[in-house]
Amino acid sequence: MDMSGPSPAVVEAGRPFAGRVRGRFAAVLAVTASLLVAAPVGAGTTAEVAPPAEPADLEPASATPADPDPTAPAPPGLAASAVDASAVAPADLVLDLTFPAERGGRYSDDYYAPRSSGRTHCATDVLGAKHSRLFAAVSGTITSMPTTKPSYGYTVTVQGDDGRRYTYIHLNDDNPGTNDDAAGPHLAYAPGLAKGARVARGQLLGYMGDSGNAKGTPHLHFEVNDGAYQYAPCTTGGINRINPYRSLRQAEAEGDYGPGTGGGTTGTPARSIHDACPKDVVPWTTFLDVGTTHRPGVDCLVWWRVAAGTSRTTFSSGNSITREQLATFIANLTQATGSPLPATGTDHFDDDNGSVHEGNINRVAAAGIMGSATRSFSPGLAVSRGSMATAIAKTYRYDARATLPAGTNAFPDDAGSTHESNINAVAASGLAAGYSDGTFRPAAPVTREQMGTFLARLLDLLVEQGHAARPA
Ligand SMILES: [Zn+2]
Repeated sequence: MDMSGPSPAVVEAGRPFAGRVRGRFAAVLAVTASLLVAAPVGAGTTAEVAPPAEPADLEPASATPADPDPTAPAPPGLAASAVDASAVAPADLVLDLTFPAERGGRYSDDYYAPRSSGRTHCATDVLGAKHSRLFAAVSGTITSMPTTKPSYGYTVTVQGDDGRRYTYIHLNDDNPGTNDDAAGPHLAYAPGLAKGARVARGQLLGYMGDSGNAKGTPHLHFEVNDGAYQYAPCTTGGINRINPYRSLRQAEAEGDYGPGTGGGTTGTPARSIHDACPKDVVPWTTFLDVGTTHRPGVDCLVWWRVAAGTSRTTFSSGNSITREQLATFIANLTQATGSPLPATGTDHFDDDNGSVHEGNINRVAAAGIMGSATRSFSPGLAVSRGSMATAIAKTYRYDARATLPAGTNAFPDDAGSTHESNINAVAASGLAAGYSDGTFRPAAPVTREQMGTFLARLLDLLVEQGHAARPA
């Protein structure tokens, strides 16, 4: 049986409960759902409930009991005894979730894994990179998000609209490049979030880390409990606790990830940007809209002061860049590398008069990096990937006073493009890469985050070859 929709009880109540619950427990869940509906777990009406303390997780020394607060009141809702726990084997539930960490996180079915002092884990640990992003598995309301770091680390709890509670532990507490445990909550949680805030499924919640007893092993301790959860041990399978493992597998199988965590346009970066932007040095930006693939490049450009966000939390990553904007980005880049574009008193074009970019347009024209055969620059035209390749090749030539090696024919879909030779050259130097299907798509517009990656690689090449020095 495959239930692909909510149970009838759920529809009646107008509140999604289980989403897509699969398999033989759907009927039991429908009963559970109706019970919950009778006494709903009100998102936003629940009093602050302390998150369960972290069982000593990857480090065995802690003497913290697994469930230190047996006196904590049950959330409003049905009593635990109302659920036939023996029928609803938590390990078998498969919930419809968005994967709570970035693609590629490593985890195993460690729900029943023993921990010290006879405790059991009762969660799934997803290991990944420090400061990688964590996402809301379901839509709901944040019921706990301590801004003063608890002993078990930064943590966020979402009371899901499905009646369940999703707890994330060990969020980041380190400043970039350190293991100092001293970062404030702004490097643990997504900007703008606080207890009581609504979050949408897939929304950025915060950042993976090693706070609490996870020091040195960044991971997400991901815990799911249903609405009737009480602080009962899960040693015997638990009461109203849910093993997240199979739900995580299902989310992965469906490709249900947070935004920007996969399908990056350039796949594996053609060239590391470590010379220009060592990852243990570059500060993290707080943009919500930059995906995994391009985030290092965007952070790099911001650090070099080549680009900036459109707000503290947005980079407008998906926006196409225009020719006049690219002129300014190139002016900024050459400035940052110590080879600023020439000043010029010549007005090269008629259609950029009054643009804030006009000065930079004239300078890139004077430097021979961008231009036009006429007196029209087309300042508002979107920059194609092909013309970006040409601008990169010419910026390199200006900055390094050398020409990129020509390279070989790298892509099948740029034959006849006026940019083909430059596309081959930037590909040969690792400054641009194609899509995973082997194409370059020279006519496709360049987004702001793609530009971040392109220009960060150019910076990297310039630093590697001694034409530029990293920001102090
Ligand atoms: Zn854990």
